[in-house]
Order: sequence, then structure tokens, then C-alpha cells
Amino acid sequence: MPKELIAGYKRFQGGYLKDNRKRLDALTEGQSPRICLVSCCDSRVDPATVFDTHPGDLFVIRNVANLVPPYEEEGLFHSTSAALEFAVTGLMVQHIVVLGHANCGGIRALMDKGPNDGSNSFIDRWMSIAEPVRQALNSMPDVSREERYASCERHAIAHSLRNLMTYPWINSRVQDAVLSLHGWHYDLVGGSLSFLESDPE
Ligand SMILES: [Zn+2]
Repeated sequence: MPKELIAGYKRFQGGYLKDNRKRLDALTEGQSPRICLVSCCDSRVDPATVFDTHPGDLFVIRNVANLVPPYEEEGLFHSTSAALEFAVTGLMVQHIVVLGHANCGGIRALMDKGPNDGSNSFIDRWMSIAEPVRQALNSMPDVSREERYASCERHAIAHSLRNLMTYPWINSRVQDAVLSLHGWHYDLVGGSLSFLESDPE
């Protein structure tokens, strides 16, 4: 048993839970977060900590490299698409933020993949969502490996934002201006947050 979790839960019980009883009790009626956030599984990027939010504030979807797959009706197991569907059509969130981050292992795995790597691991298949980004960046000469990683992190965010628009129930809400999409990047070094140029605000 991971004892640190039990110890942490006890601290939560005697601290946060006690101090925020009212707030947490109100959440038993239901959730109505305004923001859906697509974040990486990376243990160093914890949205609730980075944005100083409380339970009920953020509907967080975490996956490897914070990618959004394109809309598709084929296929059986669409964890990210199912969560997006619930956030948008069920909870009616007003914002979707795709939060990328520096030193992303998923992005590195994608960029380091050789042209003939035939690996069919779950990670490789998942990361193939960003394959167009990898191909575009690898065709650029005179760019260091680190610059390529950093560039891929940002371009993959933009790629996910474009993929979000392929979901009919997202596209129509964006057109009606009841939903907006944002691409942000969190830098582990220094903890700075930056915004993609295309971000509306
Ligand atoms: Zn990551």
C-alpha cells in the first residue's frame, strides 16, 4: 500500500476537508465547471496546483501529451472524445484549454521515432495523432533536437485545437460563440505560462 497516499489523505481530512466543508457539501448536488482542461498525464503538471483551483472548478481530461484526436465515428474506445462529449454537451463548459508543457516525454517519444520504427505500442499509436506535426518539423533543417521538442510541444497544441474543431458539437458552439478554445503551454523551468498566438484572449 502506498503509505504516503494514506498519510496525505489524513492531512486532507484534518485540513482541507474540514476547512472547506461548505464548498464540498455544495458539490454533492452536482458539478458545473466552466472550464474543461486537456492536460498531460505527466506527474509534474498538476492543473489544480498550477491554476490554484478547488474541486468542482475544472473538468480535467488527462492523457499522454495532452492530445485531442480528430473526430471519428469508427473505433471503439475513445476516452478523450467521450470526456469531451460529456464536458461540452453535458456540462456545457464555456472554455476548453489544451495545456501543453515543457519536457513532455510523449512529445520526445514522437520526435525521436525513426522513419522505419515499426513499433505498435499503445504510446506510438496514440502519439500518431501528432504525426503531421512531427513530419513538418523534421523537414526543417538546422534546428537542434531541443528546439524541435519545444516546437513540437507548441505545434501539437495547435494541432489539437484544430482537431477539436472537427467535433460537430464543438464546432457549432464555437461558431455560436458560447464556447472558446485556448492553447496554453506550461514551462516546468521557472513555472511560466504562455499562450498560443491564436488564443482569442
Ligand atoms: Zn507530457
